[in-house]
Amino acid sequence: MKELRSQAIVLRTMPLGEADKLVTMLTREAGKVKAVARGSRKTKSKFSALVEPLTLGSFLLHAGKTFYTFIQGELLKSYTGLQHDLERFVHAQYFCEICDRCLPEGEPAEAVFHLLLTALETLEVDPHPARVARCFELNLLEELGLKPALDACRICGKSGGPFRFDPLEGGLVCAECPRPASSFPVSAASLAVMKRLLAYGFQKLSVCLLSPQSQSEIHQVCLGLFQHIFDVRSLRSLQFLKAGKPS
Ligand SMILES: [Zn+2]
Repeated sequence: MKELRSQAIVLRTMPLGEADKLVTMLTREAGKVKAVARGSRKTKSKFSALVEPLTLGSFLLHAGKTFYTFIQGELLKSYTGLQHDLERFVHAQYFCEICDRCLPEGEPAEAVFHLLLTALETLEVDPHPARVARCFELNLLEELGLKPALDACRICGKSGGPFRFDPLEGGLVCAECPRPASSFPVSAASLAVMKRLLAYGFQKLSVCLLSPQSQSEIHQVCLGLFQHIFDVRSLRSLQFLKAGKPS
């Protein structure tokens, strides 16, 4: 009998049959996995509180043919308190949705597990949810092997701006080189912030100031890079954030 014992963050759930749930989780040990929580939609179930999205738990799972099955679980922390602040809550959902969309099933992703956990912890206390999101996006891109190249023009190698960013090439294009149709302007200030967020992660986020212009440009850079490989524009939380235009 193959078992998996791991901490995990619940990314999403969906009803399965009469009383079960299919739970998608990011585990520390085995990356993204799907597990069936039998009877978890019944109020007496020992799993009902454990298998809610935005919950960190310690789980023992049994590997089945298609999905894992929950055997034991212990609640370590619930981030559902974030729902008292709509902007934070939608950002937290966005982090979970984008992990679900971009991570392959069953491939270890311990660094992403820690990144998501740090992002949720930071989201609870940081006064600016949007900068937490930009930091998370950039560092997730790096973990996925999609880190943007931000030092010089991809075509001629020139290191001075002004630059445009081309998500298809994953880097910068200067004003003297042919302008790719997929590119858009990116300011020197935004480039400096992105380099800083990639170098320090969440460590120095509290002293990182983002102007509305940089916040918008960095989001555009990240979305362009994600979208090049994954269909992230259809994520519900992202559409909600776009409609709400949070600061
Ligand atoms: Zn150039």
